Amino acid sequence: MKKVDLLPFQDYDHIIISESGGKDSMACLFYLLDLGIEPQKIEMWHQSVDGGHDDLIEFMDWPVTESYIEAVGQHFGINTSFQWREGGIYNELMRKDSLTGDVYYCDNGKLVKLPTRNGKRSTRHKWPAMSPDLRVRWCSPYVKIDVFRRVLNNHPRFKDKKVLVVTGERREESPNRAKYFETEIHACNSKKRLVHAWRPVIDWSEQRIWDEYEKRRFLPHPAYLLGWNRTSCFGCIFSTADLWAMMREIAPERFNKLVEKEKELNHTIDTNRLTLEQKANLGAIERLPKDRRLSKWVKLALSRNFRKDDLIMENWELPAGALLGANGGPV
Ligand code: SF4
Repeated sequence: MKKVDLLPFQDYDHIIISESGGKDSMACLFYLLDLGIEPQKIEMWHQSVDGGHDDLIEFMDWPVTESYIEAVGQHFGINTSFQWREGGIYNELMRKDSLTGDVYYCDNGKLVKLPTRNGKRSTRHKWPAMSPDLRVRWCSPYVKIDVFRRVLNNHPRFKDKKVLVVTGERREESPNRAKYFETEIHACNSKKRLVHAWRPVIDWSEQRIWDEYEKRRFLPHPAYLLGWNRTSCFGCIFSTADLWAMMREIAPERFNKLVEKEKELNHTIDTNRLTLEQKANLGAIERLPKDRRLSKWVKLALSRNFRKDDLIMENWELPAGALLGANGGPV
């Protein structure tokens, strides 16, 4: 993609933050508001990796994520919008002699379907590879990147508009991300709409991100409170042995779902062919809080009903997952 000079913010019709609920995209939101951009101009888009509405299949994601993002939106008076591929990662993993799932989004409470018409019928039955190469690490494009682009390209609200897409990658996270531009022409830019991409926290340190939370006494996604250093999928393919052990400890049923799927497919998530059980056996659960905060944060992380009143903490504390580096997440 080509580097670009951004327009003055007031010249964009829409500013979309691609919001995972994790610390880096949250820092983008804090920063945009600090710059004085009106909340009405900002919207947060989240791609639900387990599908949504009638086709939600609890498989890979933290149950709390969507309601946490919704609560953040309500707190700041910012619109939130969810998009997904039918049946999410589960359906794509189990796809047999068929096309990939349709894409859905909600518009003013109305569900809109973007049917899959192109592509080849094929069978997946293999986990995404633990690789930076998105041709084999299929989860990121199939349930996130392509879903976002299809909705932006097809949503009538963005036709002939100027759009700024904000994402939270940081150079500190990986050698791959260190090479990213701060601003560029977005892949959705076309004759029908101008779309720029901006990574406002690209050179921020992790400490600076947590300082922004502390300043607001803002409760981070419960995953961090439990000791996860990233908020990505709960069962992210890049999870370290410690994270698998921690998942098994706090959500054995969810962990076992993935274990059973590995057995059924006769294919391990781990590229070195360790089963999830073998990998979890190599990990430690030391990072999980040891006092009564554990059951409180587990309950919150596994619920689908996060309330906006819980966003501001009385006594803010650095979460157990802070400042541990970027291990265990996409590269
Ligand atoms: S968070 Fe992990 S499992 Fe989820 S889409 Fe990204 S790389 Fe795949």
